[in-house]
Order: sequence, then structure tokens, then C-alpha cells
Amino acid sequence: MWDFATEPEFQRKLDWMAAFVRDECEPLDLLFPHGGDPYDVTNKASRAVLRPLQERVREQGLWACHLSPDLGGQGYGQLKLALMNEILGRSYWAPTVFGTAAPDTGNAEILAMYGTEEQRTRYLQPLLDGEIVSCFSMTEPQGGADPKEFACRATRDGDTWVIEGEKWFSSNARYASFLIALVVTDPDAAPHQRMSMFIIPSETPGIEIIRNVATVNERDELDEGIHAYIRYNQVRVPADAMLGAPGEGFKVAQSRLGGGRVHHAMRVVGKCQRAFDMMCERALSRRTQGRVLAEHQFVQGFIADSAIQLQQFRLLVLQTAWIIDNQPHGAARTHIAMCKVALAQVLHDIVQRSLHLHGSLGITHETPLAEWWAALPQLALADGPTEVHKATVAKRVLRGYQPAPGLFPTEHIPARRAAARERYASILEEFGV
Ligand SMILES: Cc1cc2nc3c(=O)[nH]c(=O)nc-3n(C[C@H](O)[C@H](O)[C@H](O)COP(=O)(O)OP(=O)(O)OC[C@H]3O[C@@H](n4cnc5c(N)ncnc54)[C@H](O)[C@@H]3O)c2cc1C
Repeated sequence: MWDFATEPEFQRKLDWMAAFVRDECEPLDLLFPHGGDPYDVTNKASRAVLRPLQERVREQGLWACHLSPDLGGQGYGQLKLALMNEILGRSYWAPTVFGTAAPDTGNAEILAMYGTEEQRTRYLQPLLDGEIVSCFSMTEPQGGADPKEFACRATRDGDTWVIEGEKWFSSNARYASFLIALVVTDPDAAPHQRMSMFIIPSETPGIEIIRNVATVNERDELDEGIHAYIRYNQVRVPADAMLGAPGEGFKVAQSRLGGGRVHHAMRVVGKCQRAFDMMCERALSRRTQGRVLAEHQFVQGFIADSAIQLQQFRLLVLQTAWIIDNQPHGAARTHIAMCKVALAQVLHDIVQRSLHLHGSLGITHETPLAEWWAALPQLALADGPTEVHKATVAKRVLRGYQPAPGLFPTEHIPARRAAARERYASILEEFGV
């Protein structure tokens, strides 16, 4: 059964969220605009604004809704979460206000799935309560997209593990209370069983942040960014710092990505919608050659292409969420990869057109467009480059196909026409065709 309607009661929640994000979260984007601001728990001014807003979200029963009911979530399912994330995507701060900011969401997920009782009490609860932030430390400088190239090692020494090596782009490490790191523990094992996951408190001796790398849109100076280049110098952690079983690191890492990618894709829909809204307002406001921009056909083309692309993308993400909710675990993998590829392209196209229609104003920092534009390349890289996800899509789609049985394709017309003639031979003969 297909149904595109939203239940009225849930629609009321979405309406509340939309007004709240516009009125309360978007101002935070302007007051505290740096990439690290939502994660900087030591900033007293931002926390003074944030905490009462988080309280209002809790009162509405909308705090950390991605969590399962046993962890305090609402059990909404992915489709409803997708609709909520479209609204959150309008504001950089909104996920923090609603308790759904990455990478803490994914880290909470794996702590809940694989954590011991002690690990959950120590790390998961304060994370869920929004008291602390965390870091996911996986990518390495010499081999980002391919974990099989990872070299950061942990060796067993009595009751402890000793971690040695480097990690690159460990976002928010500078603000985090703990890091979750994917580390090689058995280099001779099969590629996907070589690594284990560790929880490392930030104050552990030997963690050296070589530099806090900034991306082009963050407008920060060298070492003023939020993506840490880290060296683990003989970092010693107890054996019970391992999250999951030895050799399970890759599996643990994989399990934090599915739902998160759909939420992220839907937040991109929200950002696209905002860029599109700006494009339409501009088209109706600016005059040239005696007419508003909206009356020029090139501009109409921009608007039509953007509206079509955005709706196609939104429906793809919603269908992906629906598959996760309604089909067996893993059934949405191809769709999740399709969303990951599409999000970078659709946001690129819509932001580029919107910025272009704003002319010289568009390339200034006086609208949000220039910053969104500068951030575009990130989307095709973070969480794996587009090429990797395209390869996943193609490989999985091809599983549903077979090679042609003979020399020519099954659609080869001469053979098909001969078969058609044979099927209707008596009628064709009767009418002399
Ligand atoms: C904003 C942002 C935040 C991030 N946060 C974190 C974080 O918190 N923790 C963390 O661990 N990592 C993080 N990362 C790192 C991210 O996961 C990596 O950037 C990503 O996996 C790609 O790795 P790489 O940058 O080393 O690129 P590479 O692996 O060097 O890839 C570079 C290019 O090579 C090509 N390529 C790579 N693999 C293939 C392939 N299989 N087939 C065809 N072509 C290929 C693609 O063109 C790709 O763009 C973040 C990245 C960004 C941009």
C-alpha cells in the first residue's frame, strides 16, 4: 500500500518543530556561527541560550527521537524521523537543540548496541542527556575511505591495550569527553576482522592533537578547525575499554551508519528547500530588462529543474526510510547508498543556482548561500566518497541481472520478431501479413 499522507497528530508536531527551528534555532546559527560552536560545552554564553531550548524540546517529547524507546526515544520509525530531519536540516544548530547531532548519535547507537553496563553508565547516559560530546576516530591520513589500509595499532600488554598511530579528521576531538577509535588489533586476520573498537577518555595520557584542521567553509585559521589530526602515542587503556568483541571493530563501525545516513540525507533535503525558497523569493523580487527575474525563461528553468530534483530526492529518501521500517534488516542498503550519492549532487545543483540568482550578493557572507556553497565538496567525501557508494549501488543492482544467454542481447529484435511471428503465425497467415 502506498500512502503519502501525514497523520494529523504527527503533523501538529512537525508544525511545532518548523516554527521552533525557524524562531529559536536559526538565530543560534547567526550568534554562534563557527563549526565547533554547537559542540563546545565550555562556552557559557551558547549553553545559556541552548539549555532552555533543549528543555522545551524535551517538554514536547521530541528530545533524541532517533533513540529506541528503551533509551528514551519515541519509537517513531525512520519515516517519521525523516520528516523531522527535513525540518532540522534548515539550521546547523537544530540537531544539537533536539539531541540528534552527529557523531554523538552514531556513537550513542553503538554504545547502546555493544556497550557493557559499565560503559553505558559512564559514557552513554551523559551523552544522551546532552551533557558531553564525543568523537569518532576512524579515518587515517594514509588511507581514508578504505579501512583495509588502516595502520593505527593496539597491542595487548597484560591487562591493558597500548594504542599507537595516527588518525585524521576526527571531528570534535577538541571538545569531546571521549573518543571511539577503530584500531588494528590483529593485522594477520582477514581484512574485516583485523580491527577492534576502543573507548578512550580524552584525558588519557598520550593523546596528542597535532592540529585542528579547518574546512574551507569554516572560515577558521590553521589549527582553529574542528577536525583533529591526532597522534596516539602509546595510549594505554584497560582491556574493558574495548567496545564489542576483539576483531568486531569493522562490524561495530558499520552498524552506526544506516539510520544516520537517512537522517543526514533528509537534513540535506531541508537545506535544499531553504536554498530553493531563497531562489524563489529572489526570482520574484529582482527586476531586470523591465521584468522580474521569474518572468525570464532561463530563471524559470532554474526553478523547475530545482523543484523536480528536490522532490525526486525527497521521495527517494522517504522511500528508503519506509523500506527500513517495513522490510527485513539490510533491505535498504542499495537505497541508502543511492541517497548518499544523490544528496551531494542535488544540494550542489540547487545551492549553485540559488547563489547564482542572487548575483554578487550571493557570493558574499551576507546570505547563508556562500557558506553552504563552500561546504558542498564535503558532502561527497564525508562518510565515504561518492565513488564508493556508486560502486555499492551498481554491484547490488547488478545482482538482479544475468548475462545474455547467447551471442546477442535478449532484446535483440530479429530473434524477438521471429518469436512474435511464430506466436501469432496462424493469424498472420490468415491475413497474409
Ligand atoms: C566534514 C567531514 C567530517 C569528517 N568527520 C570524520 C570523523 O568524525 N571521523 C572520521 O574518522 N572521519 C571523518 N571524516 C573523514 C571521512 O570519513 C573521509 O574523508 C572519507 O572516508 C574519505 O577519505 P579521504 O578523505 O581520506 O579520501 P580518500 O580515501 O583519499 O579518497 C579520495 C578520492 O579517491 C577516490 N576514491 C577513493 N576510494 C575509491 C574507490 N573505492 N573507488 C573509486 N574511487 C575512490 C575518490 O575520488 C575520493 O574522493 C570526515 C570528513 C569530512 C569531509
